[in-house]
Amino acid sequence: MSSGYGIIKGHLVTLRRFLLTFWRDIRTGKGLHRRGGGHQLVDFWFGSKARGTQPTVVQDAKTEGLFTVEYPDERLPVYERFRVLPVLIYDTEDGNVRCTSCNICAKVCPPQCIWMTQAKGPKGVVPLPEEFFIDMDVCMNCGLCAEYCPFDAIKMDQNFELSNYERHQTHIYCLQDLLVSSEFYARTHPEAWNSADEVAERNKVAKKKDQRLQKALAATAKPAAAPKAAPKPVSVQQS
Ligand code: SF4
Ligand code: SF4
Repeated sequence: MSSGYGIIKGHLVTLRRFLLTFWRDIRTGKGLHRRGGGHQLVDFWFGSKARGTQPTVVQDAKTEGLFTVEYPDERLPVYERFRVLPVLIYDTEDGNVRCTSCNICAKVCPPQCIWMTQAKGPKGVVPLPEEFFIDMDVCMNCGLCAEYCPFDAIKMDQNFELSNYERHQTHIYCLQDLLVSSEFYARTHPEAWNSADEVAERNKVAKKKDQRLQKALAATAKPAAAPKAAPKPVSVQQS
């Protein structure tokens, strides 16, 4: 009678795979502890002291068996071109916000989730944003704003851990939320930062800045003091 034999055979295959998993881990030196954090009884008995200090795991060609990323104790590496929301860059050296409030990014944004106002100085508008908003719930992460910005002022960031407990006000990012330093951008996007295009653009902007500075210095330089006129002789009337 063959009834039920298939069920037993299936269980035996599962049992074999189950035992082989342990055998493979012991043979490859992984032991019985897990890579990441978390709280399992097995971690208290066999857990390595370095548990949880291995934040980035890679699934490469040598990986065998089931591959579980124990997020958030572990995470997969984020690649440079991975993009989530836009950020606005200010230069670390002088603190200058690169955005000139030209509005191009707002015009090209497909779902129209960027809006801004231009700053005003004593002589009228100045090329800086006074307010700059992006609705993160509407942004579709397309990166067009960063592609079209003529001043390299808006870039795509890789931070994907954006959840919170409020779904309205805090999901509209203002200027202060969006600003990041050029140093941060260089660290998260080393390839783009060192690319010929970006280096040339930075040099061009630095040159323009220098020209503007020289012009401003020349305009504010005090003219040489004119020589004082000789005092007029005082005529004394005789009575
Ligand atoms: S981020 Fe760029 S495109 Fe958008 S307003 Fe600023 S300078 Fe213009
Ligand atoms: S990434 Fe796309 S959708 Fe998001 S703000 Fe930029 S242009 Fe708009």
